[in-house]
Amino acid sequence: LSPVPSDIEISRAQTPKAVDVLAKEIGLLADEIEIYGKSKAKVRLSLLERLKDQADGKYVLVAGITPTPLGEGKSTVTIGLVQALTAHLNVNSFACLRQPSQGPTFGVKGGAAGGGYAQVIPMEEFNLHLTGDIHAITAANNLLAAAIDTRILHENTQTDKALYNRLVPLVNGVREFSKIQLARLKKLGINKTDPSALTEEEMSKFARLNIDPSTITWQRVLDTNDRFLRKITIGQANTEKGCSRQAQFDIAVASEIMAVLALTDGLTDMKERLGRMVVASDKNGQPITAEDLGVTGALTVLMKDAIKPNLMQTLEGTPVFVHAGPFANIAHGNSSVLADKIALKLVGEEGFVVTEAGFGADIGMEKFFNIKCRASGLVPNVVVLVATVRALKMHGGGPSVTAGVPLKKEYTEENIQLVADGCCNLQKQIQIAQLFGVPVVVALNVFKTDTRAEIDLVCELAKRAGAFDAVPCHHWSIGGKGSVDLAWAVREAASKRSRFQFLYDVQLPIVEKIRTIAQAVYGARDIELSPEAQSKIDRYTQQGFGNLPICMAKTHLSLSHQPDKKGVPRDFILPISDVRASIGAGFIYPLVGTMSTMPGLPTRPCFYDIDLDTETEQVKGLF
Ligand code: ADP
Repeated sequence: LSPVPSDIEISRAQTPKAVDVLAKEIGLLADEIEIYGKSKAKVRLSLLERLKDQADGKYVLVAGITPTPLGEGKSTVTIGLVQALTAHLNVNSFACLRQPSQGPTFGVKGGAAGGGYAQVIPMEEFNLHLTGDIHAITAANNLLAAAIDTRILHENTQTDKALYNRLVPLVNGVREFSKIQLARLKKLGINKTDPSALTEEEMSKFARLNIDPSTITWQRVLDTNDRFLRKITIGQANTEKGCSRQAQFDIAVASEIMAVLALTDGLTDMKERLGRMVVASDKNGQPITAEDLGVTGALTVLMKDAIKPNLMQTLEGTPVFVHAGPFANIAHGNSSVLADKIALKLVGEEGFVVTEAGFGADIGMEKFFNIKCRASGLVPNVVVLVATVRALKMHGGGPSVTAGVPLKKEYTEENIQLVADGCCNLQKQIQIAQLFGVPVVVALNVFKTDTRAEIDLVCELAKRAGAFDAVPCHHWSIGGKGSVDLAWAVREAASKRSRFQFLYDVQLPIVEKIRTIAQAVYGARDIELSPEAQSKIDRYTQQGFGNLPICMAKTHLSLSHQPDKKGVPRDFILPISDVRASIGAGFIYPLVGTMSTMPGLPTRPCFYDIDLDTETEQVKGLF
């Protein structure tokens, strides 16, 4: 239709096919799905065993140039591309997307189901609770947080003996260690299985974790943009006052448990990763893990359903997995390894799996390659780099773009000079993808205000910068048929041999790995470590965690650490203010500049427009 109706109107005008019908169409057996409502189902991991001998399809990553705060259409391109591949080229394809956080949905950006005629439907189910995976993560994360502070309180207020007797209680007159406790004894070098055989010294060693409160790195989380939780004091009630301390909340999608979900390859591996998560150090500088707190089993129970990918569909009835949703600025920014692996089997050798990395290629794509592909062992065939004329104009010196504020005339009228000047950002992002040896197809997501001359110029400059191809896409206004050219270009690029390589060797020292990313990817002259960051790096190296990949927490609004520096900033020193360790997820997590792990709300958040029609029970105002 023209003009294109709102996202929610388009979504509601299409009736999704029943999810069991979709599941059957894509070759799933009846007992391999668990249905949630009419249009969503979880897919059981047993499928991987059944299809283990099936060759994988082609693996395509959608990344983007440095975006405006409005988003440049990566999700929309991902969906447009699979709609084109399946419904118009007759090739099996699957889109793998992240589950959106409710922070941006009610905050600045709105939903993430794509847009226009390239959407996942029903979009309100996609954008809101889905099947509860983020709630499960929040519950698991906060159970662990409660376990840490409560353990400190109990250790502070009980004698060694009382503590031991409570941790290993008498049941029917017998004291027995649990499996987790036996593992802890082994770790402590105490080779005894009979609880009454421990000496007093051993009992004390076993019972006391001696957590140093100043080293706690595990934060509570919430899936709401609530800036007032960035710094809080906990334990203020009289009953806990002796243990009161400064703490903070992070947004739930930044929880290490979200990263574990996104990177795991099965239940056993997830349990091991959850147990390995380091939450603090003890008073001797040794790491304290979730396993030490005895909570691994409970965390695994809370996450047992979340590990199964969620099946949904596009507007054109093609399959989509929605699974895991880490942000790309403050987390590793990619959907789950499991969803990609299952989808690659389901599409068959000639098929395509299109997965999306968050924000610009400098962050989402870099982490896709260096963290996600390293964990999964999967080799990508093509990068689709999404660009828009509006973002390029911003990089060329156009006025700032703010959500909720109408675009200035530079963006609504032809301006060849701004586009030409801004293409430096596109060229740089193409070069970043080329560092990894994967062919790049540029997808220019066309808006109705773009002119022919502007579109031609972007495609021309992208090809000159080394892109395998560059094509304008119209899926937002006309659906999959508007991305047929992109689908052909991706198919052609995927037929070339991928020369994929990682950017750095994980065995390099932490500082060297950070410097490599800063210089080769962001274009920094060098890095500068705060004393806090340096001491954390020393601690993690000494604890034996130096050989992990790096997950930079950096603004998505610039290649540098300063959101207002557009285009290709040069000659800057990248400040590393702090470093955290996500040992269960398997990466070291440096914070660049003033990066916050809890976003805030703007003056006029998206929630102003969101409402429920209580007569029809229809959601209004989501986009
Ligand atoms: P990203 O994944 O890069 O953050 P999205 O695909 O979520 O971006 O798109 C951001 C917003 O822009 C969505 O609301 C979407 O409907 C809108 N949008 C995307 N492409 C177009 C287009 N070609 N014309 C108009 N609006 C678009």
